[in-house]
Amino acid sequence: MKAVVMTGANKPWEVQEVPTPVAEPGQVLVKVRASGMCFTDVWATQGYGGDIYPQTPGHEVVGEVVAVGDGAHGREIGDRVGTTWVQSACGRCDYCRKNLPLTGQTAMNCVAPRTTGFAAQGGHAEYIAITAGGTVLLPDDLAFEDAAPMMCAGYTTWSALRDAEPRPGERIAVVGIGGLGHVALQLAKASGFETVAVTHSPDKHDLAVELGADHVVAGGKELHDLGGADVLLITTNAFEAAEEAMAGLRPSGRVVLSGLDFTRPFSISSEGVPFHMMRQKVIGSTHGGRHYLSEVVDLAGRGKVKPIVETFSLDQAAEAYDRLSSGRMRFRGVFLPHGA
Ligand SMILES: [Zn+2]
Ligand SMILES: [Zn+2]
Repeated sequence: MKAVVMTGANKPWEVQEVPTPVAEPGQVLVKVRASGMCFTDVWATQGYGGDIYPQTPGHEVVGEVVAVGDGAHGREIGDRVGTTWVQSACGRCDYCRKNLPLTGQTAMNCVAPRTTGFAAQGGHAEYIAITAGGTVLLPDDLAFEDAAPMMCAGYTTWSALRDAEPRPGERIAVVGIGGLGHVALQLAKASGFETVAVTHSPDKHDLAVELGADHVVAGGKELHDLGGADVLLITTNAFEAAEEAMAGLRPSGRVVLSGLDFTRPFSISSEGVPFHMMRQKVIGSTHGGRHYLSEVVDLAGRGKVKPIVETFSLDQAAEAYDRLSSGRMRFRGVFLPHGA
């Protein structure tokens, strides 16, 4: 089969002919119909995910089940399924013995998690073998290219909103209107909250309003002047913008970090009113459990959130990577390995 392959740290993506995987016991073989590109694919390519090469990236995978391995329960040939970054855990280590739900934390704590596009093959390929229990069923009328970004962008931002525990009447600000942010904005709006888009890009203002923003501001100062926000959903991969936006955080407000910036630490300014005197909180957030994934897939199925996607064939991998890594992708790149 054809697959995109990371051959080494900071090496360009290659399209290679590789053996088609088979469904091992407990797995399903999925014909990949769409595979979304997350900025974490760039971090993985730059070496921040460890020495995982050669490996196929991609952890926003959806498609059709074409084979079912021995002992794989609950999935049948023809099922429309998706999977996320974490398919399964080892089941035996100290962390697994706690029997906590499968979340992003599992990947950080289990000694041998099956992570899509890291420990195991990712989705930017024609086929992928996935732990059957790590798949979710998709609504019948949700298009594959709209479903794929829900597996990380949707799951991540919905988990962030859930982790912020917003209360009725609170105002949600989404910092960064990109791959994650444009989804977060729609989710916050669909949940009935007053929303603010925080973006430095003037050309994104009109679109932010179309996506559900009640207000659009350029940064923390303007957010403060607008009356502030109770929740800052940080969806950018640059902490600088996140720190700046905190000038607009209301008393008892929560900053939720769901974007990754491996280049610098997140810091809290000591200028102005001290953070602790505002009783504010910084919350780390990741994929929070498959009940959250089901909620966001359901919202997508009902048309409450629809990603804006640019589609690519696997042969366009180099071009796609260039757009993704340079921040020019608007807003989610999705591979369609078998065409539209
Ligand atoms: Zn991701
Ligand atoms: Zn484990």
